[in-house]
Amino acid sequence: MPDGCSYVLDSYLFDFTPLTRKLSKASKNKEIKLYLEAPQGFVRLLRRISGFLEECLASRGYRVSTHVKLEPSFGACSLSIDDLRYIGENVFLIHIGHEPYVYPLCDGRLCMYGARNGNIVFIPGEYLGGDTEKLLLNIVEFTKDKDVKRLGLGYSVQHKSLAHKLATILSQQGYEVKIVAPVLGCYYYNLLKQRELVDAYMIVAGGYFHALGLGLALGGSKIVMRVDPYTNRVEDISRDIVRVLSKRYWLLASLDNVRNLGIIMGLLPGQYRPWIASFIESLAQRRGIKTQRLYARYLSREILDNLSPDDYDAYVVTSCPRLAIDDLGDYWKPVLTPAEARLWLMSAKYELDYTFPW
Ligand code: SF4
Repeated sequence: MPDGCSYVLDSYLFDFTPLTRKLSKASKNKEIKLYLEAPQGFVRLLRRISGFLEECLASRGYRVSTHVKLEPSFGACSLSIDDLRYIGENVFLIHIGHEPYVYPLCDGRLCMYGARNGNIVFIPGEYLGGDTEKLLLNIVEFTKDKDVKRLGLGYSVQHKSLAHKLATILSQQGYEVKIVAPVLGCYYYNLLKQRELVDAYMIVAGGYFHALGLGLALGGSKIVMRVDPYTNRVEDISRDIVRVLSKRYWLLASLDNVRNLGIIMGLLPGQYRPWIASFIESLAQRRGIKTQRLYARYLSREILDNLSPDDYDAYVVTSCPRLAIDDLGDYWKPVLTPAEARLWLMSAKYELDYTFPW
C-alpha cells in the first residue's frame, strides 16, 4: 500500500513508498542525501520530483539534500553506483523509470545478481493515461479476421497496471491470455517460454523499441502487435521485424573479408560482459581473425569515428545488444551483436536460428 509519499506529475504516478520504507528501516541518521537519476523522458521532471521529496521527507523529520544526475540513464543496467562516492555519506540512489536489473551487475571485475549497495531504490513511475476502451476496440478489431485467440502480453514497466487490466478484460471476452510479463529491450525470456502456447504477442509500451526486440527474439516467427498507450494505436509490426532481420542477414553476408575485429566492452555495471567477449574472441581466433578489446561507457558513431578505418573491418558490441541494431545498424562498417557474430564466425547463419538478445 502507498504510504502517502506519492507524486503525480505529467500523468505519471511516482510512488516513493519503497524509499520511505527503506529509510525507516535503514537510517537512524536523519540527515540524508538523495541522488536522482532517470531515463531521457523523465530527466526534465527531476527538479520537481526532488522538490517534492525534500518536502515529503522533511514532514517525516528528515533533513534532505537532493542531487540530480543530468545524463539520462538507459536502464537498470546503467545504475550510477560509482557516482555515489562523489556525493558523500548516507546517500541513497533513487533510480526512476526502471525495476531492478535481471542480469548481473559488475563492480569492476566482480559481477553478481543484484547491487551490492543496499541504498538503491527503484521507482518505476506508472503511466496513468491510456484509453483502455479504445485500445480494446482496436485489439478486437485487429484480431477478428485473424486466427488469434491465445495471447501473450508484455509491457514496459510504466504500463504494468494497464497491461493487467487489458489482460483481464480480454480474458472475459474469450481470449486465452497465457502470460502477462514485463520486458526490457534486452529481456523477453518470460514471454518466449510461452511461444508454443500463443498465437500472437502484444507489447504494451510507447514506440517500437520493445515490440521490435520481441520480434527479433522470436526471429519473426509470430505476430507481434504493439499496443501504444500514448496514441491508443494497435499495430502489427511483423513487416518492420522482417525488414530489420533482412538487414541483419545482409550484414552477415558482407563479412567475408573481415580480418580485424573490434570487440566493444561496456563499462556500465550491467553492460560489462567479459565472458561474452572471451567467447567471441575464441571463435575469431579459430578463424585467424585478430581481435582488440575496446572499452566505452557510452558508445556512439562519433566514438567509433575516432578509430583509424584501416585498423578494424567490423565491430562486435558486447555491452547493450540494442546498440548494434538500433543505434549503429547503418554505421558504415558492420557492427554486430555477439549472437550475430557467433552465426558468422561459426559459418552457421543458415543452420542456426537468429538469436536475440545477447
Ligand atoms: S536494452 Fe540495453 S540499455 Fe536497455 S536494459 Fe538492456 S542493456 Fe540496458
